Amino acid sequence: MAKLTVNELDLQGKRVLTRVDYNVPMAESDGVMVINDDTRIRATLPTLRAMIEKGAKVVLCAHLGRPKGERVDSMSLRPVAQKLSELINQPVAFCDQCVGDKVTDAVSQLKDGNILLLENVRYHAEEEANDTAFSEKLAANADIYVNDAFGAAHRSHASTAGAARVVTERGGQCAAGLLMERELKFLGEELESPKSPFVVILGGAKVSDKIKVIDRLLEKADTIIIGGAMAYTFKLAKGLQVGKSLVEPDKVDVAQAALEKAKERNVQFLIPTDNVVAEPTQIDGKFAFGDYRINDNENIPDDMEGVDIGPKSAEAFGVVIKGAKTILWNGPMGIFEDSRFAEGTYNVAKAVCEATANGAISIIGGGDSVKALNNAGLGDQTTFMSTGGGASLEFLEGNELPGVTALTDK
Ligand code: AMP
Repeated sequence: MAKLTVNELDLQGKRVLTRVDYNVPMAESDGVMVINDDTRIRATLPTLRAMIEKGAKVVLCAHLGRPKGERVDSMSLRPVAQKLSELINQPVAFCDQCVGDKVTDAVSQLKDGNILLLENVRYHAEEEANDTAFSEKLAANADIYVNDAFGAAHRSHASTAGAARVVTERGGQCAAGLLMERELKFLGEELESPKSPFVVILGGAKVSDKIKVIDRLLEKADTIIIGGAMAYTFKLAKGLQVGKSLVEPDKVDVAQAALEKAKERNVQFLIPTDNVVAEPTQIDGKFAFGDYRINDNENIPDDMEGVDIGPKSAEAFGVVIKGAKTILWNGPMGIFEDSRFAEGTYNVAKAVCEATANGAISIIGGGDSVKALNNAGLGDQTTFMSTGGGASLEFLEGNELPGVTALTDK
């Protein structure tokens, strides 16, 4: 069911409680917390600008880190207020509480178009417990609720679901922000009936994390490409040797079932035919990779670990990707954090961008694939990059997201 969005709301003079994803990486420098990457703050600017233009009193709430219900100074959102103010070019008030009289006071001082950021909602254990009384306190000063935090929408917390329920029960509207709307459009509507050939590329560490996505997309995809450590469990299922590669032996039957389903449905299912392999060893008492080389064989030698797809596989995958009209990519092809094993992932990234330049729709399902594209300077050459990791996967599995369900239907 399509959800109401901020574009459809009359916000003039309304107090809008807005859940955003400001869980930004920070590090201490000379005794102050410094934001290392402001991507998530920037991602909310279109929604904030739209609400300001409509004359809303914007009250932002968010979480940062895992303070586990305690006030932890290093996890305060105060530096985010400062950063947001610079990015949006207007003052952003900050309240060191997220519920209670101090918040009521701060909200009452807002003029139309003003912004107030509340302190980390996770300073209260009631947030993650989706506590009813806490949800009521959070929503106490809200006429309208907006959720722009797709990355937190798979959690049923007070700020993602509880506060929306309170506002709804009061007869108020709950809407998706513009970032949330885009996430739902690309991960939802666009993949509902994708233009063929639809190529799905999945990588990363574990089959168990993504098997439900594979299963669901086997209903729609023309080709499924598997890379990363996941591929080795599929190799096991095909009776191949995997050496010391990261595998999930208890998921071999699941991998087998996916391979059979692909055959039944005539879905091309590609796993790497060559790999970069490295020797796991110890250096200074710590785990490390020693010698590494291309292994031009489907089987991986006993003493080696598969760490990336090989050049032949990258080329074969690239040909299929470049012929696609719709692409969904989630997960790296190898241990791309180590530059020696990043080439396979970067080659896939380049093929995805080339296909996009030729008119394909490319959707990047969050997490490490987004990181890899950004590292390669290719982030702006895809159609859409999701801001959600866990939320994207859950959505692609076909699960309802509590933070989305709680919004008002159109
Ligand atoms: P995920 O969060 O499931 O997308 O997994 C991402 C992680 O998978 C990254 O940290 C990669 O280093 C890791 N990964 C990818 N390929 C391999 C591999 N061949 N062996 C071990 N880890 C891998």
